[in-house]
This record gives sequence, structure tokens and C-alpha cells, in this order.
Amino acid sequence: MNHSADTVARLRAAFRSGRTKPVEWRVAQLRRLRAMLTENAPELAAALHADLGKSATEAQRTEIGFTVREIDHTLDHLDDWLRPEPAPVPAHLGTDARAWTQYDPLGVVLVIAPWNYPAQLLLTPVVGALAAGNAVLAKPSELAPATSAVLARLLRTYLDPEAVAVVEGGVPETTALLAERFDHIFYTGNGTVGRIVMRAAAEHLTPVTLELGGKSPAFVDRDADLKVVADRLAAGKFLNAGQTCVAPDYVLTDPGTAAALETEFVRAVESLYGTDPAASPEYGRIVDERHFDRLTGLLDSGRAVVGGESDRASKYLAPTVLADVDPSSPVMREEIFGPILPIVTVPGLDEAIDFINDRDKPLALYVFSESDDTRARIAAETSSGGLGYGLPLAHLTVSDLPFGGVGESGMGNYHGRYSIETFSHRKALLEKPLG
Ligand code: NAD
Repeated sequence: MNHSADTVARLRAAFRSGRTKPVEWRVAQLRRLRAMLTENAPELAAALHADLGKSATEAQRTEIGFTVREIDHTLDHLDDWLRPEPAPVPAHLGTDARAWTQYDPLGVVLVIAPWNYPAQLLLTPVVGALAAGNAVLAKPSELAPATSAVLARLLRTYLDPEAVAVVEGGVPETTALLAERFDHIFYTGNGTVGRIVMRAAAEHLTPVTLELGGKSPAFVDRDADLKVVADRLAAGKFLNAGQTCVAPDYVLTDPGTAAALETEFVRAVESLYGTDPAASPEYGRIVDERHFDRLTGLLDSGRAVVGGESDRASKYLAPTVLADVDPSSPVMREEIFGPILPIVTVPGLDEAIDFINDRDKPLALYVFSESDDTRARIAAETSSGGLGYGLPLAHLTVSDLPFGGVGESGMGNYHGRYSIETFSHRKALLEKPLG
């Protein structure tokens, strides 16, 4: 047997033995995972810094602390979420019949993670898969090698080695894994690989969750307080040097507001990272040369209002805002996934809605408007994974909201109780006494 088949067989045997099913086992694993994160936070933060230039504050906030909060939320509510739910029984079955649903774990779950939040996006799905009582195979991203190595070692040490495995590696290793039969595959990354994952899963009729990306627009209404808008958009966009799946990809606004936003963005970037962001310890780096070259190739798509500077040796690309951007220019043809924020103009709300609906359904859509009517119209007339009014990114920190895309931005969702839904089968039960 090859290595992948071996690993999956071992996990399947553990699942079949029943060891992952008791709530006590699940809780113990979650507590171990929590201890893993808190006891090794400095080492993890150092790995995240090595891979992405992530600051210690950002590592704590968006990776370690984020996952710890998800664990705590799950530990607080797990009993409640797992409680069987009674269902009303129709009259023809008699008054002594009883019906209900219960959550069954699926079996062996494969989690494939990307490099941009390499700890959070590997571990948060793992939290859900364990909480639902599954055996788990975790595959970190090879593009964040330091974090991948630390996580592989720690997960093997802290969690039940019979029921949790880590396979490191890139395309060949992942391809080998995808040939195996899993009971669920949870993939976070781009749509091209998402299709590869779904095709492989189809061979075994394995359900998939695909957490993908795309261009998430930010619509700015002319009535909005542009100082607040620029501060919040810049903070959301330039976090992790723009390498965030729900980062505002571009600003959509009318020409007058666009002009007024320019100076606000210059001020906002300076207040976040000073006059020389390259020297700011809070500002991250591009993950590798391939992405660096791709991103610098997009800088010609508009006039840099702020930023534009880059240094290939250190993979530094300044927080950049581009004005006068044509909707057909290269920066508007792909997900940017880096620190470049184009401002695209449309005459007004109707055209903004058309602009959004003419393109792939985004993972997130952000709206900055004081008008209830505008906010309601966008909610009713567009489709996106999530919709944020007045604040980018934050919806994904609400553990009681489902996080996921729609259409080209993905399928399925997770976080909190939605992870239990994703990693369980909701079994229908009916009981009619024999007597
Ligand atoms: P990536 O390159 O790290 O790929 C993700 C995973 O797929 C990795 O584990 C990698 O080993 C594996 N992989 C790559 N090529 C493969 C192949 N040919 N066959 C099998 N497996 C393969 O990450 P990425 O795709 O560059 O990540 C960026 C994308 O992910 C963006 O589009 C972003 O929006 C999206 N994203 C989405 C979310 C979300 O939660 N929805 C979060 C982060 C990133």
C-alpha cells in the first residue's frame, strides 16, 4: 500500500473502532488543540513571520487567537448543538410513534488548507471536524513551509495520533491523497484547484466544502463618511498585505466620491503604517516571487494615489490605491489577493448593482451607505457569500454566522454550529413501539 492509502486506512480503522465518537474524546481533543496553540504561540508566530512577514499582533489576532476563540465557542455550545431534535409525527403513524434527528459523524475528513492564513484555515475546519466526531487528515499549504512544519509536528504531538494525521506537501502529495476515499473533503483555496478537488471527490461520491475566493467589491455611497470608510477599507485591505480571501478587492463608487476618497486613502495608509510602510513591523510581505511578479504586473492598471513601490528581494509591495482604473484592465480581471486597491467608478447605485451582478458571485460584498434603502436594495438584488455593512472582514469573526461562498466563490460553509452541520450527517430516526 502507498503512504496515503496507509494513512487513510489507519484513520478509518480508528473511526471504525468508535474512539472518535464519544463527546468526551471530542472535548479532550479540542482542549489539547487549545493547549497546543497557547503553549506554542511564540513558535507559531515566528513561523508565520517567516512565511508571510506577519507581525506578532496579527498572528495572535487572525490566526492563534481566532482559532482559540472558535475552540472556546465550540466547547461552550457543543452539547447543545449535538442534542437530538424531535420532529412532529404525522397522524397516520399513531400517537405512540416518535421521530427525531441526530448528528452522526461522517468518518474520515480531509482538510486542505491554503497559505494565506495557514494556521487558522487549517485548524478552524479541524476544530469542526473533531467536534463532530470525525477522524481527520490535515494537509497544510506547502507555500507556508515554516508554519506547515510547526503545525505538523505539534498536531502529531498534541492530538490523538490514531485519529488525526498530518500530511505535508504540495501538488504530488495532495494528488495522491485525493485518489483515496474520504467521507468529506474540506478545501480552501482557488477555484481551479477547487475543480480538481471536486472531480476527484466525485469518483467516490464524497461531499465537498469549497471555500474559494474571487473579487469582493466595496460599494461606497456618496453620503458615507469618507474618513471612516477609508480607515476601515485600508485596514481590511492591507491586513496580511492584502492576502485575505474576504479582503475588499476593489472600490465601486461614483466619480465625485472617488476623487474625495483619494486624499482620505493617503491619510489612512499613513496612519496605519507611517510614511514608509516598508519599515513598519505591522506590514506583511508577499508570500513568494510568483505572486510578487503577478501583483507588480497589475500596478499599470491605474494611477497610484498612494503606494506603488516594491522590492522583489524582500517581497515588499507597498499598500497601493489605484485611481482611474478601467473595468477591463488586468487588475479588474482576476482576484487581486495582494495590497492593491483599485477604485472603479460607476454613475450610481443601479449601475453598481449591475456591475456586481455582471460578474462572479463574490465571497464578500461590502456596502458603506447611510441609506437604509440602498443597503436593503443591495441585500435583495445581489448574491454573495457574506454581506458587510460598514466594516470589511468582521463578519467572519462572528462564530454564529456561517462562513462560505456561493457560486464561483465556493459551496458549503462552516464556523460554530455550521461546522457541525458540515462535518456530520443529520440522521432521520423513527420509532414505533412493537407492543
Ligand atoms: P494554495 O496554493 O496554498 O492552494 C491551496 C491548497 O491546494 C494547498 O494545500 C495546495 O497544496 C493545494 N493544491 C494546489 N494545487 C493543487 C493541485 N493541482 N492539486 C491538488 N491540490 C493542490 O492556495 P491558493 O489557492 O493560492 O489560495 C489563494 C486562494 O484561496 C484565493 O483565491 C483566496 O481567495 C482563496 N481563499 C479562500 C478562503 C476562504 O475561506 N473562502 C480563504 C483563504 C483563501
